[in-house]
This record gives sequence, structure tokens and C-alpha cells, in this order.
Amino acid sequence: MVELLQRLHAALPKLETWIDDLHARHRIEAVLGSGLPFPRLTAAFPADLLSATQVASVSPLPFPPVSEYGLPEFQTMANMPMAGITFRDMYFVHPEYSSAGVHFHELVHVLQWRALGVRPFLLTYALGVLQCGYERSPLEAIAFNLQAQFEEGTPARSIADYVTRHALQTRDAAALLFRANGIEMGV
Ligand SMILES: [Zn+2]
Repeated sequence: MVELLQRLHAALPKLETWIDDLHARHRIEAVLGSGLPFPRLTAAFPADLLSATQVASVSPLPFPPVSEYGLPEFQTMANMPMAGITFRDMYFVHPEYSSAGVHFHELVHVLQWRALGVRPFLLTYALGVLQCGYERSPLEAIAFNLQAQFEEGTPARSIADYVTRHALQTRDAAALLFRANGIEMGV
């Protein structure tokens, strides 16, 4: 485990650069979250989050070259069919799967990236996938659960505080495990 955590940590600079480049390539075509035609999203997310979020419709969805970065453990995730994926304050939706629920799910991830910052998010997210698998990893499970409630028509409520608190708790648990293996998350 410690060797894998070290590889994760070592890949952070490359992942950050990859995300910067991805944003630069898609900035022009992206629309703002505040301009999406889904009124129920407005009730669930803070206005400043929606207006600071960029949304791009692309196929195939982008995914970092994890094997090239020394993390072949995540290659199966790269090959999984996904409806959307979020990197920092920009998310990507596959045009064939665009729905209010999918946008809701990715906006939960935008909240998580915002709460944690880039490197702690990447480490926390990756550890969750390694320990629990993709769908049951903590930062995904909460997004899927809230998305299901949203799609069932549960009256929209502000979820920012709830998602932020959960993200910070998950990060703190992950930071302890990294620290026990001699790696500082830097939070
Ligand atoms: Zn997700």
C-alpha cells in the first residue's frame, strides 16, 4: 500500500499540469453553470458556485493518462463509460447523457473540489476508489445518493454545507492514512 500511495503522491504535479492544459483547451467552448437550462439546480447550489463553474459538452470524456503517470490501477476507470467527469471548477458531460441529474452529480463534485483544493481532492478521491471501488468511494457515493434523491423529485434544498462537511471529514480520514504511511497531504 505504501508504495502505491507514494506513486499517487508523486503523480500530483503531472495531474495538476494535465488539468491546467485541459481547462485551457476547453475554456472557449465551455458555458457557465449559471446558464444551464435546469431551474432546480439553482435551488440546490449557491449562485456563486454556479456562476464560477464551467461546463463543457464533449465526447469522449477526458481522463488523465494514468498508466503513463505510473498509476495503472486507475486504467479501468479511464475505460468505464461515464456520463460526466469533473476537474476543479470545470466539468464535462457526454452530450448523449446530459440531464439535470447528471449536471447535479457533477456540481456535487465541484463543491468537493472547492472544499478540498486540487491535491487533497485528488489524493482523497483516489484513496476512496482504491479502498471501496468507484461507486462506493465516499466522494462518489454521496454524489450518487444526492443525485438519486434529486431525480426522485425530493424538494431541492441547499446541499453545499452538507457536501462540504462530508468532503472535509473524508479528507481528514484520508490524510491520517497518508500520514501513517509517511506522506503529508499538505492540508
Ligand atoms: Zn461522480
